Amino acid sequence: MTKKQIALKRASELKDRIQDYLDVKERIPSGMAAAEQAKMEEKKRKILTHLKGTEENWKDYRWQLKNRISDLDTLRRFISLDPAEADAVQRVAEKYRWSISPYYLSLIDDDNTYDPIKLQAIPMVAELRDTGLTDPMAEEFTNPAGAITRRYPDRVIINVTNQCAMYCRHCQRRRNIGSDDHHTSREKLEKSIAYIRANPEIRDVLVTGGDALLLSDATLDWLIGELHAIPSIEYVRLGTRVLATMPQRVTDQLVNILKKYPPLYVNTQFNHPKELTQEAKDACDKLANAGIPLGNQAVLLNGINADKYVMRFLNQELLRFRVRPYYIFHAKRVIGTTHFNTSVDDGIEIMEYLRGYTSGMAIPTYIINAPKGHGKTPIAPQYLISRGKNFVKIRTWEGKVFDYPNSPTRDIKEYF
Ligand code: SF4
Repeated sequence: MTKKQIALKRASELKDRIQDYLDVKERIPSGMAAAEQAKMEEKKRKILTHLKGTEENWKDYRWQLKNRISDLDTLRRFISLDPAEADAVQRVAEKYRWSISPYYLSLIDDDNTYDPIKLQAIPMVAELRDTGLTDPMAEEFTNPAGAITRRYPDRVIINVTNQCAMYCRHCQRRRNIGSDDHHTSREKLEKSIAYIRANPEIRDVLVTGGDALLLSDATLDWLIGELHAIPSIEYVRLGTRVLATMPQRVTDQLVNILKKYPPLYVNTQFNHPKELTQEAKDACDKLANAGIPLGNQAVLLNGINADKYVMRFLNQELLRFRVRPYYIFHAKRVIGTTHFNTSVDDGIEIMEYLRGYTSGMAIPTYIINAPKGHGKTPIAPQYLISRGKNFVKIRTWEGKVFDYPNSPTRDIKEYF
């Protein structure tokens, strides 16, 4: 065969390897698809009419927050629930809080009982199962001062609020959500800052909650400013899900505050391509244009994204939104959320399918949080099959096996 014939044969093999994805992709609901957008617009109109809101109100995050839907009667005006589903909402509400921003509610597709937005937003009876733990990470034992969680040598978390734009049904911190919204007191935040200042080995701070971007602009400006001024702090990260649940929060004023403190990173949580709407894109663009890198930490969720095609589409779409897929978290066995748990095998199968089939940039690290706060543990398919003195045996993404030389590393000085 000529070189050209070999290349053409290989190109044809590779084309065959993508066909299954192309066939399925068109059927995955997407926030950027015209049909989905039309449905969202229709629901938005319905919500605005009922709440007597305007287009300007819709774009105002304060209005979104003030008008979160958290009672069954209002919910039923916008979402069709059968009697059993409605009963479940009421029963679950006695145990766990729920609340949905009008924006996130507008993404729900009524025609789909298993809509991935609905599953994330609306309580279901399975939440009342008593399997799982309240605090599998033992976070209560990792709080040395103020509102800090410390699990690693060089970095800490500050928990600044328990408020969120929407209370996700899969929330891994649902024990903190409680029955009302409250921000961490200024006194506790000051104690957290003092702890960080007194421990100069800390170089990285994650400000999270709840949702870090539900703090007021003034408090964020003060807090990030204080952290930024600590000589040992190399960068601050913000943990927020508003990009998916209430993108209106990303105002020009907020962006002007955040861009004063580089390097600053925003970590968000998109779990399904339906959450990647034009409004979410506008919010991501504002942050990216201000030089703020964006990363995504998806949670692997049964019925929502535990599917190799959905996860591939999500990660590829995220890159188009300038959000780097960063982690896929294996969902912890948190009480009230265990119906969303998947097997570890499901996660490994997804990772196996991503490697080679999509760009390395679109492949996050699959993580199991070790019990009792022992840290993030990466889980990956096995590519190193065996190792010998002079060779390792490796398996490629297509399952081809090769020997690869494994010579000992020589001191660079020997080459001079
Ligand atoms: S935004 Fe995060 S902290 Fe808030 S309910 Fe959702 S998962 Fe939990």
